[in-house]
Order: sequence, then structure tokens, then C-alpha cells
Amino acid sequence: MYDKIVKKIEEYDDIAIYRHINPDFDAFGSQFGMYDLIKTTYPDKNVYVCGEFSSELVAKYDVLVDYRDVNYSKDVLGIVLDTANQERIDDQNYKLCKEIIKIDHHIVVDSYGQINFEDSTASSASQLVVDLYQNTKLQISKAGAGALYLGIIGDTARFLYRSTDKRTFKAASALIETGIDIVSLYDRMYLKKAKDLNVNKFILNNYHVDGNIAYYILTNEDLKMLEISRERGSDYVNMLSGIEEYYIWMAITENTADQNWRVSLRSRKYPVNKVAEKYNGGGHLLASGAKLQNIEQLDDLLRDLKELINE
Ligand code: AMP
Repeated sequence: MYDKIVKKIEEYDDIAIYRHINPDFDAFGSQFGMYDLIKTTYPDKNVYVCGEFSSELVAKYDVLVDYRDVNYSKDVLGIVLDTANQERIDDQNYKLCKEIIKIDHHIVVDSYGQINFEDSTASSASQLVVDLYQNTKLQISKAGAGALYLGIIGDTARFLYRSTDKRTFKAASALIETGIDIVSLYDRMYLKKAKDLNVNKFILNNYHVDGNIAYYILTNEDLKMLEISRERGSDYVNMLSGIEEYYIWMAITENTADQNWRVSLRSRKYPVNKVAEKYNGGGHLLASGAKLQNIEQLDDLLRDLKELINE
């Protein structure tokens, strides 16, 4: 698999790198990390990163990216990171690529690439990119290694989740060998602003409980009042984690632009992805995302989650 990917990269002069919409640390980390691997090894190739880059997370990465529009009049190889299904690829122009390599760690629902490097037991897409680095001649810069480290840390919550295994530590170790400063990387990820305390206060004062399910709702008005973007609405979901009585916890954020409500579902034990799939979503067994068409649908979602708990 690794050699197949490198061979394909070598065949193309133009390579576009994609990841999912609503990007998180792993989506950006694997995208910027992959960009860096290719640019460091083959400086003359035209490498593009695709999607929306307005997120405040972008500033946390050091990879020097040349943001240019893809020249699809040439033969372009697309590499899609961290994205289970085609609808969630950020920048649907990926369809103009001649061939696609998919690199992902979600539960497999759609193997849309000509080459599919899929491993749902891997902690993160960034870990898979490090595997590629470790098993081939591809080179990486310190900035690229930092991006991949942020991706692994983001998706494992600092090596906390069950998806963390010896491969994850091996990947982290390979990145540390490049000389990255992990404390400054942690500062970037976890140093908060005073306004975050207001969000914490709001959530603790207003979260809801239904049986063994806890959740908070952020309306558009709440987001404005708390001065946070809608993309960051689910960042606080784990404030409700680690409570014995709550088996499932969720963040629900209004999206007035798309006229829906984004849901982030988490559990220690219950496969919430099954329910998420019913609501235009999916993801991992214990961490999934979904969308409600309107807030009234929340009653249905809660009913389905209670059924899951009682099964
Ligand atoms: P989130 O709650 O947005 O942090 O997402 C948790 C996990 O589920 C991530 O791995 C996402 O990539 C995935 N995910 C989120 N929303 C969706 C969706 N609508 N469809 C499929 N997967 C999703």
C-alpha cells in the first residue's frame, strides 16, 4: 500500500490535497502534513491544498503553504484525508481530479478512491500519514511533523481515547525525533482565552439532562452573545464527559446559514455512529457527528439514543 501511494505521487506533477468540511485538528493536520511530505520530498511538484481556510485553527500550523487555485486543465492527482464520504469533501472540484487516493480512519462507508488506504482502527488520519512517512522514502520538515502531531493529539485527546495504541506512540515518537517542541504545540492547542470561561459558565448553567444523556444547545443568538463561531460550537462537548451518570453526551449548535443544527455525539460505551447515520451523519463508534433539520427533531434523536442505551 505505501509503495503504491508513493508510486502514484511520483506519476503526477500536480497534486491537490483535500480534507473534510468543518475541519478539526486532524483534518488540517493530515492535510498540511501530507502537503509537507510531498513538497519536502519533491519541491518541484505543484501541490495544492483545497477547501475553506478561514478557520482560526489554521494559524496553529507552521507549514508554509502556497495557497493557489488548482489548475485542473492538467492531470491532477487528488489525495483526500480524513473524509469518509464524498459529500463531506471540502471542495467538490475534487471530481475534476484524474485519480483519487483516499487516506482515512473513519468507519468505511464509501471507498471512493482508486487507491484506498483505510484503517478505522487508527487513531487519526494524521497517524496514517506518519505511517506513510515511516515506511517510505518520503521526507518531512519540522513544520510538517508539528502539523501531524497536532492531528494525532487532537483526535486522541492527548492519547486518552481507546484508539490510542502502540502504533500511535510509535508515530508520535517518529515526529518527536524531527525535533518538534511539543510544549509549544500544546500551548497552541490548549491555551484558552478569557471568553472561553464564559462559554464554560454558560454550558454548565444551561446544559440539559434526559435520562443518561446530557447535552447543551447553542443557538445562533448564544453564539453571538458568547462571541464564538458556529464551527467552534461543539468544541466544548467534552465538558460533559467523564460523568458516571451520563452515558452519552452531545453538543448541538444552530447553523443558520445551512438552516440546520449540527450535533456532536460522544459516548464511553455506546456506538453512537449507528444513530448518527440516521441523521445525516456518521463518524466513529464513540464519536460521531450528525445534523438535525430543525430543533424539533431533537426529540426523535433522544428517543433513538435511549433505545440504543436500552438495547
Ligand atoms: P464532530 O462531532 O464534528 O467532532 O465529529 C466527530 C466525528 O464524526 C469526526 O470524525 C467527524 O469527521 C465525523 N462526522 C462529523 N459529522 C459528520 C457527518 N455529518 N457525516 C459523517 N461523519 C461526520
